[in-house]
Amino acid sequence: MFAGHLGAALALGRVERRVNVGVLVVAALLLDVALWAFVLVGRESVTIPADFAATHQPVFVFPWSHGLVASLAWSALAGAAAYLWHAGLRAARTRAAALVAAAVFSHWLLDALVHVPELPLAGDRSLKVGLGLWQVMPVALAVEAIVFAAGLALFLPGSRLSRARAAWLTLVCALVLALTVAGMTVAPPPPSASAMAASSLGAILAVGASVGWLGRRSA
Ligand SMILES: [Zn+2]
Repeated sequence: MFAGHLGAALALGRVERRVNVGVLVVAALLLDVALWAFVLVGRESVTIPADFAATHQPVFVFPWSHGLVASLAWSALAGAAAYLWHAGLRAARTRAAALVAAAVFSHWLLDALVHVPELPLAGDRSLKVGLGLWQVMPVALAVEAIVFAAGLALFLPGSRLSRARAAWLTLVCALVLALTVAGMTVAPPPPSASAMAASSLGAILAVGASVGWLGRRSA
């Protein structure tokens, strides 16, 4: 899931316009940033199963990035960092911190909706949860597209973006949705876990930077 997390970030971006929406995008994808970094250093794993062409679902072992307790800890850490970073917002500082923390935790909730039961509560030996909506891919993609479109529809009005910026932002977001749908339907299996990790990290940072640049307040 990529577009759904982007939608959650955009929706939260409406709540406090002084928090750069690119920060919220990276926050909403922070658990995946942690996952791919842990995969690259060998602390977590992603395996491409033999039936990948049919399911488009890798198998994840990711207790440190996607465990429930771990996710709450990442949310708290990111919230604390946002609180320190947004000193200039004075009274709205706590709200900025809460928004960033909520963006981080929204990732876990959305992932728990689509993954098969593979998200551990606390540590790899604990109970694993996941509603498995990806088993019914058309429904999962429809839900993701709705979350994504709702986020964009909430963010754009009142954003004070120029027409050109709003159009570019919509285009970048639509591209993410297209890539998400392609990745879950027609994409060939990735050549390796580390290639998947590196390309995913690059995509997250590129989308975070472009949405942050296009969506920043002009006044
Ligand atoms: Zn994830």
